[in-house]
Amino acid sequence: MSAKDKVSRICILLAGGTITMRRDVASGALVPGGSRDVLLRYIPELSEVASIDLLDIVDIDSSNMLPSNWVAIAQAIYERLDDFDGFVVAHGTDTLSFTASALSFLLRDAGKPVVVTGSQVPLGETTGTDARNNLLFATVFACLDFAEVAVFFGSDLMRANRCTKYSQFDFHAYRSFNFPQLGRMGLYPRLEPWCAKSEGKAPMLYSRLEENVFVVPYIPGLQPELIVSLADQGIKGFVLEGVGPGNVPTVFPYPEVIRGLRDRGIPVILRSQCQVGGSDLAMYETGQAAAAAGAISGLDLTREAAVTKLMWALANCEGVDAVEEEFGKNIAGEVSI
Ligand code: ASP
Repeated sequence: MSAKDKVSRICILLAGGTITMRRDVASGALVPGGSRDVLLRYIPELSEVASIDLLDIVDIDSSNMLPSNWVAIAQAIYERLDDFDGFVVAHGTDTLSFTASALSFLLRDAGKPVVVTGSQVPLGETTGTDARNNLLFATVFACLDFAEVAVFFGSDLMRANRCTKYSQFDFHAYRSFNFPQLGRMGLYPRLEPWCAKSEGKAPMLYSRLEENVFVVPYIPGLQPELIVSLADQGIKGFVLEGVGPGNVPTVFPYPEVIRGLRDRGIPVILRSQCQVGGSDLAMYETGQAAAAAGAISGLDLTREAAVTKLMWALANCEGVDAVEEEFGKNIAGEVSI
């Protein structure tokens, strides 16, 4: 067999979600525990594309997915990097973009494709299911030469820490608003030139995350004392979502609260509630006041990337200044700087 004919070895990690769920007859609800054992029979083409190993991680609705599960997925991939050419993670769509973002911070320089996918309709529901194509094409991309954690959904390959579930209806359920797609499936799989390639660095696994972070979307009238009371209850870092380019009001003492939290070693990442573009704290007086008080700009990070980067930074860096330094860097392709 020539090198060209080499069959790729792909590990499909099963982490639950609609893709492998079944419909419970009595309640009508989708529940875990469906098509895992018949997966390869439902998609026989998978074994034409690659040599497939299935690995069970958890079988849950992804609303039950926890940061400890993200670490387990990252670790399972890390331990098998020498055994496979690429990895596919089958996952529930509800929290898929949080898991995918977290994987990009936990697993560095893997040097191989890690493609996270899911579906809106279970594999077992043969009428109109998107599960077959998503899993098959995610596997096709996992056989190609790139080195990113990515999400495949519909026909799009997106950078993991750039995408967000925006539709509960469409088969194209995810969008990458601030970064172009990494690739597309059409007549053939197409990878874009900005897709990262392996730099031959040694892979690294982080296994610690600080789970006590909180997202606060500002709504008109929201008093900042609420944030202080959350900090008093043990929250270690905030993602504060301002309006427009990340503005929070000055009629309430947001700057003072941000300063007070920073003095207590609690960082406040200030991002925009808008999905396109990001925070620009220099643009208005209100944003400038928050920045001068020590708010850290979330730039154009998605909510998922901001949360998981903060969880990673709090657990792995010493102090707010070090966290701020990391948020000023592009560490896994997550931000446009
Ligand atoms: N509730 C499901 C989950 O996230 C939804 C899905 O997979 O589409 O596990």
